[in-house]
Amino acid sequence: MKNTALFLLLMVSSFTTAFAQEIDKTLPEFSFNELELAGQMHFLASDFLEGRRTGSRGNVIAGQYIAAQLRAFGYAPINGDSYLQPVPLMKTAAPSTGKLMVDDMGFTQMGDLLIMRGPEASVEGSVVFANYGWVDAETEHNDYEDINVRGKIVITRAGIPGDVSQAGVFKGVREKAKMAAEAGAVAIFEMYSLPFPWGSFKGYLGSERMGLDSGSESATIPYGFVKVQDDFVGRLTKKKKGLKGSMASSGMLIERMSSFNVGGVLEGTDPELKDEYMIVTAHFDHVGVGKQGGGAFTEQDSIFNGARDNAFGTISLLASARAFAERPTRRPVIILAVTGEEMGLLGSQWYAENPLIPLEKTIFNFNTDGAGYDDITGISLIGANRTGIDPQVEAAASAFGKKVINDPAPEQGLFDRSDNVSFAAKGVPALSFSPGITGFSDELFKYYHQVTDNPETINMAYLKEYCQAFTLAARLIANRDTRPYWVDGDKYREAGDKLYGVKK
Ligand SMILES: [Zn+2]
Repeated sequence: MKNTALFLLLMVSSFTTAFAQEIDKTLPEFSFNELELAGQMHFLASDFLEGRRTGSRGNVIAGQYIAAQLRAFGYAPINGDSYLQPVPLMKTAAPSTGKLMVDDMGFTQMGDLLIMRGPEASVEGSVVFANYGWVDAETEHNDYEDINVRGKIVITRAGIPGDVSQAGVFKGVREKAKMAAEAGAVAIFEMYSLPFPWGSFKGYLGSERMGLDSGSESATIPYGFVKVQDDFVGRLTKKKKGLKGSMASSGMLIERMSSFNVGGVLEGTDPELKDEYMIVTAHFDHVGVGKQGGGAFTEQDSIFNGARDNAFGTISLLASARAFAERPTRRPVIILAVTGEEMGLLGSQWYAENPLIPLEKTIFNFNTDGAGYDDITGISLIGANRTGIDPQVEAAASAFGKKVINDPAPEQGLFDRSDNVSFAAKGVPALSFSPGITGFSDELFKYYHQVTDNPETINMAYLKEYCQAFTLAARLIANRDTRPYWVDGDKYREAGDKLYGVKK
């Protein structure tokens, strides 16, 4: 057994060596210029761009710079005559003030009460208990069947019938306000019962949130959670008509804003592969300045420059774009710099929902993103052994003297924390190429989402090698005879089969 394994290992390594020897050293990536890449780093991660927070001035400047570069390289605009794809966003926050009175019991917003959504309101009326406040046409379950809640304030248990876990509670959060409004209620509050401290729940759901603006209405009546004493349900149900009560809310805060993705398209050289686009992505946004950054800052240095996260990846994206323009690949390439990653992968999610080239013609997403690096002898692959492109990445890395670190820090779930997952969820084989990390080490945390993540702390020689290995890997993938695909049993395989109409 051991010998067979060793034999296989020798086969594999001689194969990669042979493969590496075939690589054409006149490809543009073999003559990348360190000073030029460092120059881009000093611009994209400069204080002037103020941490490139989504929607901010610095974010817009970075995006326009990327668009200008794609234009200069000869890429066709991705969106009609524009390199920009608008991404509509919505910032929401819980009402700043609110109160609920039930008989002689009073609850105040951000005290024992968390009104999460709904318009400004001030109502008086009975307070009634409606069990879970859940309606399910399929199972014919209807908690509003036997009670009249018209014009009343409804109190319910948290979660849904049969599921009071976190998942059940969050399902309720999404749907209960609508059900209560349809039954005629004027407000609905769930009694908090999850096993986490009320304070952290309140902090999590009550804080400002950014999301895609889907154009859908928020709750039409005030909705939220209330932290009550054990005998509350008893008191509420003792009187058939409910208790007297009132509530008031200053209304959910909604601010609409917009940002944009930046993209260009380059044709390939093989007419037979013209409908097999490879989309190469990097996020160009970061977190901003001061309090926005979420980490420590001082008056002297309050800018979260995001040199590693993700000027590093953005520069590798542009470097590959330029190299492909000079020496095109067999397959066509889409270069897409996405916004809103730090707000929850919003830009990539928007593109995946609103693709400018049909997703079924997009055969692979190669994303470049990193939390930082602590091992410059390697590069990391997040999503190794899942799409069959590993030999190309191995060959590209070794061509520049780098080893491949497969899926470091598995406990961090990195695959699902970067933009590749927006594509994977739709079925497009996708993964992330990242700088070398051995794990979430002290060296990594020294810079990760810190004001210290600035150009002065970047190893520019490594930046160049990273760009080279990334570009060559992307090229080898785009030039493959066969397209990459999810391996059997991968959790995104089914989505892929559906997207591409693969028959089993
Ligand atoms: Zn980040």
